[in-house]
Amino acid sequence: MTTKLFHEDPYLQAFSSTITEHMQVSGKPAVILDQTAFYPTSGGQPHDTGRLNDVAVVDVIEDESHRIVHLLKEPIDLDRVEGQINWQRRFDHMQQHTGQHILSQAFIRTCEAETISFHLGEESSTIDVDKSSLNFETVTAVEKLANRIIFENRQVRTHFIRPDELHRFAVRKLPSVEENIRIIEVKDFDYSPCGGTHCSCTGEIGILKIRRFENYKGGSRIHFVCGWRALRDYQHNTEILKQLSEIMSSSVSDLPKNVRKIQDDTKYLHSENNNLKKKLLQYEAQALVSEIEKRGHVNILKKTFKDRHPKDLKLLASKVLKSNLNTVILFGVEEEKKASLLFVCSEELTFNMGDLMKTVCAKIDGRGGGQPHLAQGGGSRVEKLEEALQCAEDVILR
Ligand SMILES: [Zn+2]
Repeated sequence: MTTKLFHEDPYLQAFSSTITEHMQVSGKPAVILDQTAFYPTSGGQPHDTGRLNDVAVVDVIEDESHRIVHLLKEPIDLDRVEGQINWQRRFDHMQQHTGQHILSQAFIRTCEAETISFHLGEESSTIDVDKSSLNFETVTAVEKLANRIIFENRQVRTHFIRPDELHRFAVRKLPSVEENIRIIEVKDFDYSPCGGTHCSCTGEIGILKIRRFENYKGGSRIHFVCGWRALRDYQHNTEILKQLSEIMSSSVSDLPKNVRKIQDDTKYLHSENNNLKKKLLQYEAQALVSEIEKRGHVNILKKTFKDRHPKDLKLLASKVLKSNLNTVILFGVEEEKKASLLFVCSEELTFNMGDLMKTVCAKIDGRGGGQPHLAQGGGSRVEKLEEALQCAEDVILR
């Protein structure tokens, strides 16, 4: 069993130790020390990182015999090591973890919601509580209570107890171990069995902010940040709001109102634009009728456009066909690097536009197909577009 220096003093950053075993874990060199300040991943709290001599510690795990295994970037030959933990990472974990104890108790006191699990993530942390459909007012009250306990700078103490002493503490949950029980006390507020690392007074947490909450597996999941993370979150959000208010030429508090107004305006303009487009297409269709050429039993409308939307052209074709019988429409669209084709014919004609499209698309190095009365295609040889349309016309007249 490795002596857990982080239990005796979570503020210990540097220590000396002896390597008791060299090993390989998942293909990486690893060592076991007689004592360590490196916290192994457990209880929702991620492991520490840092150095043993000059070698980076990349992962820390606790095995079944309570030995702490340090996975290393490269092997260490010596048996004595000087350890140094990454304090910024550790203190961040202490802030989130201590904040979690307070948050969990605040949920019990405010709405009788018990914490089922805790996860300390890279960006934000979560607790899952056994109550669903939480409302904004309740969550705000929880957040307020948690921050009151933080601002009162209460002592956070650790008690190592025997199982028969457990009754002395009003613990939030029962310990998962039967010996070396460790109770974390937030003075006059919360008692919780825990093996993690915690701040020694609540003021060090700084602030706790619930970022969002949602229904999750019959209960709720609460996303929160503490300490430096909360400050970074606040700075980030303030910057976003600043940018938005500059873009919108609006005060921050007027942003929701002004964004909603833009949404309404956009919706109106969108539908107005659609109406105008339809009207315009109607006029365009009427003008196109004069370009229809009568060729024996069949009328042909052949035309090339520049940068037109296929949806608009389909609508245009259908409008032309409405007032003209026995008509074949051969549309080409010229774009910068692409040529598109749209062939449509009246219902009463027996041509197969799909087959025609397949034949003609070869001219523009492309592909296409469709139904007997409507077909679409496209290709890369824009310069061959006119030739392709002429070919389609020739096939029809044959
Ligand atoms: Zn804890």
